Amino acid sequence: MQLRKNKVNFSKINHIFLSHLHGDHIFGLMGLISTFGLLGRRSALHIHAHEDLKGLFEPHLNYFCSDLPYQIVFHNLTFDGPKIIYEDKKVTVESFPLSHRVPTCGFLFKEKPKQPNVRKEAIHKYQLQVREIVALKEGHPFIGEDGKMVPEEELIIPAPRPASYAFCSDTRYLRRIIPVIEGVDLLYHEATFGHELKDLAKSTSHTTAKQAATIARDANVGKLLLGHFSSRYRDLKPLEEEAKAVFEKTVMVKDNDVFTIER
Ligand SMILES: [Zn+2]
Ligand SMILES: [Zn+2]
Repeated sequence: MQLRKNKVNFSKINHIFLSHLHGDHIFGLMGLISTFGLLGRRSALHIHAHEDLKGLFEPHLNYFCSDLPYQIVFHNLTFDGPKIIYEDKKVTVESFPLSHRVPTCGFLFKEKPKQPNVRKEAIHKYQLQVREIVALKEGHPFIGEDGKMVPEEELIIPAPRPASYAFCSDTRYLRRIIPVIEGVDLLYHEATFGHELKDLAKSTSHTTAKQAATIARDANVGKLLLGHFSSRYRDLKPLEEEAKAVFEKTVMVKDNDVFTIER
């Protein structure tokens, strides 16, 4: 329903990454699978989750979706260390273990570095051939007719820095993730409680807003998104304030908010 509300093109969704098997994170999946089928989806849908998901879902799929017009491919997450679980020409997705009441993974989405563009004026001025353009994009120098190397600034426009996003939910306060998410442009981290309930956060394997901000600060991330708030908080202002006191670039997330990754 939320994807529809946000006009997300369903056919562009080919991989689903599920951090852990708690209801608040997976109960919508069955409806989504069924809806995709009703809309006539044909291409396979890949679901990356704990290995138990397949066994849990198969009876439901057999009962409710026996004539599903597309294939579901289950990929089992592992929980013993960071691992690249998806890769294409543009991005990699890495899972890394979190610490929660059941096996849980965070996900790190990283754009691959792009090649620089060759300036149109330079192509014209030096009558560059395709192989010379390819060589320039790959970082080779270009020697002019006078035998001198042409300065790089005159030839190429550097590619934008690759963007990165990390998703960490649910987890207790876990400092060992810092090197994994170091320097990401955008970090989503759970903040179920305010720091006044830090003992409850610990006993339920969740994080406080202050702790999440500490992770963001120490990992030197670009921006922090906080979510997964306990329903006991009618007003999120105190959580926002305690987080911002540690890490200023913190945003409290509501359903349907949209963020652009700033590099
Ligand atoms: Zn959970
Ligand atoms: Zn949860």
